[in-house]
Amino acid sequence: MRRYLSAILPFCLSAILLAQIDPKTALLERSAWSALNAGQAHTAAEAFRQALAADPKNARLHLGAGMAAALERRDADARDEFERALALDPKLPQARARLGLIEYRMGDPASAIRTYEIVVAENPDDRGAQATLDRWKREAELHDQMRQAIDDRFTVSFEGPREEAIAAQALESLDRAYWRIGQVLGSYPSEPIKVVLYTTQQFTDITRSPSWAAGAYDGTIRVPMRGALDKQKELDRVLAHEFTHALIRTLASRGVPTWLNEGIATALEADDLDWAQKNVAKAGAPVPLRALQTGFGRFNGAQAQLAYATSALAARRLLEEAGGFAVANLLRDLGDGADFETAFLHRIQRSFADFQSTPF
Ligand SMILES: [Zn+2]
Repeated sequence: MRRYLSAILPFCLSAILLAQIDPKTALLERSAWSALNAGQAHTAAEAFRQALAADPKNARLHLGAGMAAALERRDADARDEFERALALDPKLPQARARLGLIEYRMGDPASAIRTYEIVVAENPDDRGAQATLDRWKREAELHDQMRQAIDDRFTVSFEGPREEAIAAQALESLDRAYWRIGQVLGSYPSEPIKVVLYTTQQFTDITRSPSWAAGAYDGTIRVPMRGALDKQKELDRVLAHEFTHALIRTLASRGVPTWLNEGIATALEADDLDWAQKNVAKAGAPVPLRALQTGFGRFNGAQAQLAYATSALAARRLLEEAGGFAVANLLRDLGDGADFETAFLHRIQRSFADFQSTPF
């Protein structure tokens, strides 16, 4: 499913470009913000780094460096830069809110809540910040009450004694997915993966996923325990899918187009892709992969199904033609910031245009 917090908030360039003393640094800063606004995170990071070398006590430059790092998913660097910016200017607009979001993304909700309490106190009219803080608090409260089933590879949190059996079942299912999918991609996560089992309502509240979502991964695997999860096959499918997202994240924390991420997860969730073939046949044609670069959360149920079907068939062909190791290497290259077309040609041994032109 979609990643939470994937979008960087738009911000106002003019509000941030204040007078600078050194014209060369001012120019660097201007080009850094432009690059950041254009989504060119690496160029922006480099320009902010150079500007900071000349003007290391400039809070705004640290904020920009943090935003570029966040966009590149260098989260620890982003957090450090936001903290530096706030140490220099505790009232710097946006810095504290961005620090909170990064803390949350890094799996530190307690710090994120403390940071957002200050954000809300300083900006009492910011309803969005208040809503985020409330949601994080509800989540923390719920997780405090949860129990856990643990092995070396997973930590499964669940609410009450009634869910104990399903949690044990989930742990076994996750272990099977771990070995099966790890072998396909020739890679295994190095750290235990967090999994939380929710009621349907908790899941919707915390992940804000569309109603068709059967699970979500945002650094933690989150799964609603619908009636369907009583069926072993459905449980296996949903957990294998979300586990694959977790594994992909260990290979590439950024730069992976949604069709590839969802496609691999969907292709590996179960052996059978007949449903996908039927879905594409019914629609008349698959969706062009270039139209599936970003999150599927914007789609309605039927559109989402066709997007998943198309992505799964494309990923399956990629895995069959090039093999899991090549696909894992493609993911690693993308995570390292490689250009997609170049990395695809190098790892898959054919151009992306050529790959797309052959029907699945
Ligand atoms: Zn998914």
